[in-house]
Formats: sequence, C-alpha cells, structure tokens
Amino acid sequence: MTMSRKSGVLAAIGDTPMVRLDRIFPQDNVEVWAKIEASNPGGSVKDRPALAMIQRAEEMGWLRAGGTIVEPTSGNMGIGLAIVAAAKGYRLILTMPESMSEERQRLLTLLGAEVELTPADEGMNGAVRAAQEMAEQCGHYMPDQFGNPANPDIHRRTTAQEILRDLSGPAEYCVFGVGTGGTIMGVGQVLRGQWQDVQVVAVEPEESPVLSCGQSGSHGIQGIGAGFVPDIVDRDIIDEIVTISESVAWKFVDRLAKMEGLLVGVSSGAAVAAVDILARRLDPERPPARMVTLLPDTAERYLSIL
Ligand code: PMP
Repeated sequence: MTMSRKSGVLAAIGDTPMVRLDRIFPQDNVEVWAKIEASNPGGSVKDRPALAMIQRAEEMGWLRAGGTIVEPTSGNMGIGLAIVAAAKGYRLILTMPESMSEERQRLLTLLGAEVELTPADEGMNGAVRAAQEMAEQCGHYMPDQFGNPANPDIHRRTTAQEILRDLSGPAEYCVFGVGTGGTIMGVGQVLRGQWQDVQVVAVEPEESPVLSCGQSGSHGIQGIGAGFVPDIVDRDIIDEIVTISESVAWKFVDRLAKMEGLLVGVSSGAAVAAVDILARRLDPERPPARMVTLLPDTAERYLSIL
C-alpha cells in the first residue's frame, strides 16, 4: 500500500481520483473518464484555486501574517478560502446575497469565516460591491477569482498534470463547465499543447447562453454560467460550446448516483450531459473515442434542493 499521510489539510488538496463511467457509457465507441473533485478536503474543485490565490498573495507581499481576506462568493470558493484561512490563521470575510442557503452559511461559520449578507434584490453585484468597498477602505486582500491568474494557473500545474498522468493516452474531447473559466482555461491550454487533436468543449446553462449567444439569464446550475464572460476566459482555447438545461443536468445527477454510485452536484450533471451529447454523435463503428471531464462537487452541497 502507498502511504498517503499528509502534513496538514492543505497538503491534501488535489491529486483527486479519476474514474471511468462505464455504466452510463457502456458503448464500444467511447471511453469516458471523470475526475472526482469532491475528494478535495473542502468537497470541491475550488480548494485548488483558493490555496493558489492565497499563496500568490503571500509571495507578492499582498497578504501578511494575521491579515484579512475578503471575497464575494456564495459558493464553493467560500468554503475553499475558509479552509485555507483556517489552516493559515487569516481572518476571512465573505460577502453574499441574503438569499444564500442556510447550509452554506453554517459551513462557512463553522470554519470560522465571517459572513456579511447583502440585499437579495442586488444579487451577486451587491456582494461584489460590498467586498470591493471593504477591501479599499480597510486594506483587506480581495483574491478576485474571476480575474486572478493564479486560478487558471493552478489547473495548469496540478489538474492538467494529473489528467496527463492518469490517462494512458490522448483524449479526443475534454469537457468542462465554465464558472470563472479557471478549470477550462488551465486544463485546456495544457492538454491542447500535449494532444494535437483534442477538442476543448465548454459547457454552459441553456438558460444563460453567454458564451454561445451573448445572452444571460437566471438559471439553477450553480457553479457555472456566471452571466458574463470572465476576464480569464480566452475564447481561442475553446473549440465548441454545449448548452445544457437545468432539468437535463439534474437528470444526469440522478444517473450518476443510481448507475455509477457517484454523489455529485448539478454542474457535474451538466458536464456529463454534454459528454452524452458528444458521445451520441460518434460513428458507432469507430474505435473508442476517449473523453475526459471533471465533476466539480458533491450532491451533499445541494441537499435542501435535491
Ligand atoms: N461547478 C461548481 C459546482 C463550481 O463551484 C465551479 C466553480 N465556480 C465550477 C463548476 C466551475 O469551475 P471554474 O470556476 O473553474 O470555471
């Protein structure tokens, strides 16, 4: 048995398992691999950029011992930052709309983060404004996950390298949901450089097709579909965009649970629904096309709405 003793929770971030989805995709012409990001200590892919952004701020001298971090987030980034802040002894303030679920607020408070609620009718914009004001007035450090280069960079240095190591050869398609775009940009760039023919496929909500049609709308696929094109997104990295409706995404959450025994969140359902669309397009007689995707978080984060 290999030893997997870690010196602290932060050393346990990354190096997540990759599993083959051979019950949902039993056909001979496709081989689908999925990276299980719920295995990170904070239960999502966002532990990776949370740690990377804080490490960069320390290196640049933007954050010093005992300093304060402030970020507008209602989701997994908050939990990732709360874990990093707890383990490194920083104060963390998270701003989020008051409409956010109780379970998320409780997890964040348990980790020692301070939650500042902003008016529900101002949505995420209200939370962003409140965080910016606090950062400016009090000199707190704001990581800004949508514009921080450490976000895609950690996926280049870790997620992409793990995929290259764990797959036995090139994939033809790599399929990722786009929230900040950190995952698809970082992983997409590296895989593109290694595998000439790989198609990098972005997944976004059908109800908010910003990348494909320039239209934003409200939708329930939490984690993807920010409603704008994030600064870190470079369209040249993306070969194709697939849109998935919220109801189809939930259908695949159900399939992943019942057929593969995998507990995943709704953005994972959307990613696998997109893989299914691509798989159906393949010639049935062709040799297996290898596809790789990433399942960002766990169903447990959605218990109150499942
Ligand atoms: N799914 C979930 C559940 C997420 O929390 C995120 C991160 N916002 C994503 C997908 C998308 O990842 P990225 O920000 O790297 O595009």
